[in-house]
Parts: sequence; C-alpha cells; structure tokens
Amino acid sequence: MFIKYRGLFLKYKVPFTLGILALLATNAAGAMIPDLIQQAIDLLDITKRQGIEALSDSQTQQAFEALLFQMLGLSVLVFAARLLSRYWIIGAGQRLEYDLRNRVYQHILKMPNSFFSANPSGELMSRMTNDVESLRMMIGGGLMLGFNTFFVYCTTLPMMIRISPMLTLLTFILYPFGIWALSKISSRVKALYYQVQDVLGQISTVVQENFTGIAVIQAYAKETVENTRMQNESRRYLKVYQQLIHKRVILMMIFVMLGGLSYLAVLSFGGWQVIDQKITLGGFIAFTLFLERIAWPTASMGWTISTVQQGAAALKRVDDILSQESTITSPDNPEPLPQPVKGDLNIRDLSFTYLNPYAKKTPVNNGDENQEEEDVLYALKNITLHLPAGQTVAIVGPIGAGKSTLLRLLPRLLETPDNTVFIDSVDITRLSLEALRKTIALMPQQSYLFSNTIANNIVLAKPEEFVNLRESHVIPATKAASVHPEIQAMMHQYETTVGERGVMLSGGQRQRVSLARTILQSQLLEAPVLILDDPFSQVDAGTEERIIDALESRKLFENKTTLFATHRMSMVQKADWVILMNHGEIVATGSHQDLLASQPLYQQLHRQDELRKQTDVILPSDDEAINHV
Ligand code: ADP
Repeated sequence: MFIKYRGLFLKYKVPFTLGILALLATNAAGAMIPDLIQQAIDLLDITKRQGIEALSDSQTQQAFEALLFQMLGLSVLVFAARLLSRYWIIGAGQRLEYDLRNRVYQHILKMPNSFFSANPSGELMSRMTNDVESLRMMIGGGLMLGFNTFFVYCTTLPMMIRISPMLTLLTFILYPFGIWALSKISSRVKALYYQVQDVLGQISTVVQENFTGIAVIQAYAKETVENTRMQNESRRYLKVYQQLIHKRVILMMIFVMLGGLSYLAVLSFGGWQVIDQKITLGGFIAFTLFLERIAWPTASMGWTISTVQQGAAALKRVDDILSQESTITSPDNPEPLPQPVKGDLNIRDLSFTYLNPYAKKTPVNNGDENQEEEDVLYALKNITLHLPAGQTVAIVGPIGAGKSTLLRLLPRLLETPDNTVFIDSVDITRLSLEALRKTIALMPQQSYLFSNTIANNIVLAKPEEFVNLRESHVIPATKAASVHPEIQAMMHQYETTVGERGVMLSGGQRQRVSLARTILQSQLLEAPVLILDDPFSQVDAGTEERIIDALESRKLFENKTTLFATHRMSMVQKADWVILMNHGEIVATGSHQDLLASQPLYQQLHRQDELRKQTDVILPSDDEAINHV
C-alpha cells in the first residue's frame, strides 16, 4: 500500500529527509552529553582523592570548564535540531494530510450516482476525516518517533558497550520477549482499527440520516427507537474501541516494563561493579544516563508500532475509495462538437438498468436463456427518438416510467452506453464531460439548495458575480420563475441565507429558485439544450400559468432544444410534441391532441391533472414532508 502511494510520500521527501537528518543530529549530540558528564565526574573524583590543592589547580579547572562549555554547546544543538526535526516532519505530515484529503474529495466529486448508492455519505466523511488524520499521525507521530528510537539506539548502544559490554547485555536480555509480544499484538491492532473505523462510519451514517429526517422521527414519535439504535451502535463502537485501546496499552506497557526491569538489573549489578572497581563511578553514572536516554524511545515503541499499523489500515480504507474509478469520464481524445452547436438530439436503442449495490449476486447462469432477462429490471428499454434542434418536447408518463432516468442520461449523470445518444451527430461519450455539460442545462427533479444565500444559489459562483449579473441575468431569471417578488419581500432579499438544503424556504420556493438557477445557467452557458425534470411539481396552478407565460414571453425556449418531464397538461400543451412513456418504454409520440384522442393512459393522466387543477392540491415531495411536518 505504501509503495502504491509512494508518490504521495515522495512529494515531501525534502522536508522529511531534512527532518530525519535533524533527528540524527539531535541524537548524536545528545549521546555525547553523558560521555562528557562521565569525564567531569571522573575528573572530580580523581581530584577529590588527590586532595583539595588539586581542585584549585588551574589546569584541572580549565579542563572542567571546557567540559561544561562543551555540554552547553551540545545542549543548544540538541534543542535546535529537535525543534527543526519536529517542524519539518510534523509539517510534512500536515501537508500530506491536506493533499490526501483534497485528492479523496476531488475523486469523490467525480464519482457516478451508483458510487453514492453503494457508499453512504457518513462512511465517506469518516474516511475523509478520521482515516486521513490517522495517516498524518503515522507520519508526524509514528514514523518520527520510530526514526528517533532507531537513532537513539544507534548512537547510544556503542557508548554503552564501550562502558560495559556486560551491563549492555544485561540491559537487552529481555528484549527478544518484547519483540515476540510486539509481533503477536500489532497485527491485531490493525484489524481492530478497521473495525473501529467501520463502526464509526456507520454511526456517522445513522446520525446524518436521522438529522436529515428529524421531522419524520419526531412526527412518528420514533425518538426512543432511534435512540436505542444509536445506543447499540455506540455500544459496538465502545466495545471495539476498548479492545483497540487494550491492545495498545499492553504494547506500551510491555516496553515500559522492559525499561524498568533493565534499570533494576543495571542498578544492582552495576553497583557491585563500581565497588569491585570494574567500572568507574563516572562510567556507572554515564551508563544510567544512557539508560535514561533509551527509556522513553523504548517505551514509545509500542505506540509507534500501533500508530504505523493504524496508518496502514487507514491508507487501505482510503485506497478503497481511490481505487474505485469513475465510470463516467471524458474520453482520452475527446471529439469537438461542430460549431455552432445546434442541439439536435438523437437517441438510438437506449436501454438502461440501475445496478443495485445491495442486491445479492445473481445465481450462476444455469443455461436458461431467459434467466438473465428476468433478473434484470430495465429502467429504460430500447428508446429510439429524434429531437430536432430548437423543438420543445414534453415527456409524460406515470411515476416510475423512466422519465428522470432518460433525462439524466443525456448529460451523462448516469452511465450512458456508447453509441446511444448523439448531439449534432456526435456520440456524447466521445465528448469531453465539460463540453457536454456546457451544452445541456438541466434542472433536476429534486431542487437542491446549498446552505448559502439565494444569490449564490442562483449564480453558483463567487459573490462578486452576483453584483455583475443581478440586473442583466438574475432578476430576469427569477421573474421568469415567478419567485422575484417573494425574494424581494424577504428581510435580506437576495442575500437571505436559505439554511441547510434550503430548509428556510418552502418546497415551492425552492423549486422556483432552482428553476431560476437553471434559466440563468442556460443563458450564461448559452446551452443549446435545456432539460427540466418536473419543474412545477411544487407550485400551484396559478403560479404554474404565470411561469409558463413568463417563460414564453421571454422566449426562453426559443432556439433551444427543450425537453421537459411533467404531469402538468398546461405545460405539455406548449410543447411541439409529446412522448408518452410507461415501464421504461415509449408508448406513443405525437401532439397533445393526437395522444388525447388515441391513448387511454394519456387520457387517464390528463383526467388526473384536471382533477388536481380543480382542487389545486399539491402533493408534498419527500423533502417538503420532512421540512414541514
Ligand atoms: P420517473 O421519473 O418516470 O418517475 P425514474 O426514471 O425515476 O421514473 O425511475 C424509473 C425506474 O428506475 C423506477 O422503477 C425506479 O424505481 C428505478 N430507479 C430510479 N432511480 C434508481 C436508483 N438510483 N437506483 C435503482 N433504481 C432506480
């Protein structure tokens, strides 16, 4: 995994190498200090034994002062080099975290609808935050401490052996046991980290879903049920997290204990060696100082290993996302559209099925030819259509007929198959995604507003754009969508913040702001194709008439190939012709009058709309229900 992502790490090789060198410098300088202390103590010891006159001897004094100055110089060096090593390595870890998070985010933004069906947003958020952070901890914490421990041992061990090979052997005699325990426990840490992050992802998903649907939970008094569900998830989290901490603590304690036992052995055995005059008093004190130097790096070894294991697991979880390639990408050598773009749309034999990420694997084909046919549920089946440039076409059909699917396939928001949709005779999968989406302005069925001002929701750009576009584009668009007077009546008018998902507006207002956005974007992009997916589902009959009149009088459909799905017959009558769909297939095409005369399904839809108009009841959308219960 680390080799696969070496580019990410190698990008920071300079600060990382500098940091490692600084670590080496701080350890090398630090390892010399006990040696100087040994010299100073032995000097004092000898002079003490020789009598007080020797102490005042200027040569001895000079030697003593020189040792003190060297210690001071080395201490400053140790301090400066440690500071620099932290600055470089921790800084590299933070920038790596920043890079990786951006990379994951950019990757997710390009993913198709099916990816989001398979990966709940709570899970994605968890990978973008916790896992990326664990990687930073691994670089800025784990690896830094790991290198530090390595250098401490490299610089300290020779000094210890020089003082007493016997004492050194005694210090490390128990270490093989530590290494054995380490190898046993560390792989368990990695597995537990996976589990912890999985549960955390599930908790994020539950929380996110419940906060979004809070009105439904409250309306049906399901707080207790949801609370219990959350408590169960939290309990699972607590359990696996406790296991993880348990393992990490054991790892740490093993090395703390090893350090303590070594200390005890050295103190007792070393004391006898001083008495037996096998080593000097200075040598013994220096040896205990060296032991002191390796005590913390040794104790931190368990933490280091578990942090690296967690980092490896986190990288694997991030890789799970990064290794899923988007199925909707621009071709390597995109074809240009012939200029000027006319917007002639040709759909040939287009079929589409949604992949169900939750479905069990289809059973192995047992030779029955019809088996596959039965297992696949087509959202669209063999659609063939020609929409000449500049025409306005309505798509009508019952719920689930496949209208939205067809409309979303045109700008490749779903996986449009090759050679099925052509704009001005060019297969849309041969166009760059940017060029295609600049050609088509789409108003999706769900009017999503960002938690921003109305102005920014319409302009979808930097705030200064609004000032420039206000009179020329924004107000004409909001007037056409019949929402301008309502925005003007709000306290902060176009600067009103609409809250998360636009909760502060009614469903109808959200839909009209969304329509204004589409009108504006279609004009700014000069998109020759305009697609509206059920644009009036949330507005009453009177407003609908006003909008249709405004759209007509402002000639918004003029020179544009316009395709809209709707249940509203007043809108349908404005279309040049109508497509009637049912069960993913085209049932009939023709003028409103033709279909009304010949198609029972169309007559039924017409009757339903007449009935609605008389009562003027607007069925709330799911969003509306959630926000206004
Ligand atoms: P309409 O817009 O006419 O109401 P849709 O195009 O939304 O119809 O849906 C057509 C069919 O595809 C329906 O059977 C619907 O259940 C199914 N469908 C729509 N979206 C998805 C999805 N994201 N995943 C799986 N099936 C879907």
